[in-house]
Amino acid sequence: MIESSPRATKIVATLGPASNSPEMIERLIRAGVNVMRVNFSHGSVDEHSATIRIVRETAARLDRDIGVLADLQGPKIRIGKFADGKVDLVSGEPFTFDVECEVGDRQRVGLDYPELVNDVAPGDTLLLNDGRLTMRVERVGATTIECTVVVGGVLSNRKGINRQGGGLSAPALTSKDMDDIRTAAKLEADFLAVSFPKNAADMYMARELMRAAGGRALTIAKIERFEAIGNLEEILRASDGIMVARGDLAVEVGDAAVPALQKRMIRMANGLNKLTITATQMMESMIESPVPTRAEVSDVANAVLDGTDAVMLSAETAAGKFPVETVEAMVRVCLEADRHHALPFDNEFLNRTFTRVDQSIALSALWVAMRLKVKAIVALTESGSTALWMSRIDSGVPIYALTPAAAGRRRMSLFREVHPLSLDVHSKDREQVLLEAEMRVLQAGVVEHGDLIVMTIGEPIGKPGGTNTMKIVKVGFTH
Ligand code: PEP
Repeated sequence: MIESSPRATKIVATLGPASNSPEMIERLIRAGVNVMRVNFSHGSVDEHSATIRIVRETAARLDRDIGVLADLQGPKIRIGKFADGKVDLVSGEPFTFDVECEVGDRQRVGLDYPELVNDVAPGDTLLLNDGRLTMRVERVGATTIECTVVVGGVLSNRKGINRQGGGLSAPALTSKDMDDIRTAAKLEADFLAVSFPKNAADMYMARELMRAAGGRALTIAKIERFEAIGNLEEILRASDGIMVARGDLAVEVGDAAVPALQKRMIRMANGLNKLTITATQMMESMIESPVPTRAEVSDVANAVLDGTDAVMLSAETAAGKFPVETVEAMVRVCLEADRHHALPFDNEFLNRTFTRVDQSIALSALWVAMRLKVKAIVALTESGSTALWMSRIDSGVPIYALTPAAAGRRRMSLFREVHPLSLDVHSKDREQVLLEAEMRVLQAGVVEHGDLIVMTIGEPIGKPGGTNTMKIVKVGFTH
């Protein structure tokens, strides 16, 4: 059974020590999480497979279609370790990154990416710990980068390092990422998030590796590199969706540039029939507090109003003190923001021409659903494409996507305004299958006798990409 007033915007929650127990996973699902993110930057293969198994078992027990997103670590460049775990760096003092340094101190620390010396030059700005500390590069040697601390503070073991303005040559997929793609395929992840892609080729490579390993996950490009902004359209075309990865992106392009970029990315993704996840620090204060700040409420609501498919929680659910309360707060904000249409049906849409029959039916059904003020759209879909096209325009009409394929339903768990439902098809006869679908939404409690619904279906039944029929039905009056 799904929520009585279905929420259009989906919620992605990162699992971690605060939340990867069976009890917490159940509470998070009940609170409203649609997709669980497993962060491959932390933990072992055994831990990831145990976590994913718990998600699958719990979702099956609760009869929910919960997606699993495997998020690759990517080439995040990190400093080495300090003798005391951390140092307090003071502005104006010298500090050196030294490839050969094994144990760091207040003067120097190691680097896990020796090529960084080839990527930086005197005058560059380096940002550490997500931009909390800043250094100016003074001299570059064969194995050292000598800097002056510009903004000091505490620097602890293994913190990330970025160059302002991007331009680092590290390839998007490390050998660990390639192994993790194979693991994600084996564990049947529904979404694969690729960290730090620069261009379409990075995304094609990730998809190829996954397909070769037998995986069918939808690919999500994390937009967090300066170069990715210039290549946004080609990256989108090579992916199923993007993540607005505001943490690293803000470090590379400057924090003030991110809000406008977020709007541009979401608009472009929707226009190209792609998915968007808006991520990072959305409810950051709820790591420690049971209530969000006003600014966080606005941030989540604004992402919804921008037209994002999903909003994402990171440390709030992975390591915070209030994972369930955070999801509950996010649900509340999304429900309210969902009532204001983000992506209106405009003249541009009316002037569009189509090349595909299934897409024409999908968008005609959407148009009718809005004009006739129906209660719901019921799409019988194999690949999920019909539901995807319908959900790229914010009609305010819930879309129930019916398919026997559990993996298909899990992939649709991320689509804004789409609510997957299982349907066991027992017939090859179109009218009979439509009747079974009508009974299914009635039984799920999402429509009532007398409601008008728009249904889409393809013949032959069960063929992906075959949607060729639309039917308007008054529920309970078909026979
Ligand atoms: C980000 O940088 O905003 C992000 C989502 O990536 P990660 O959490 O993997 O660092």
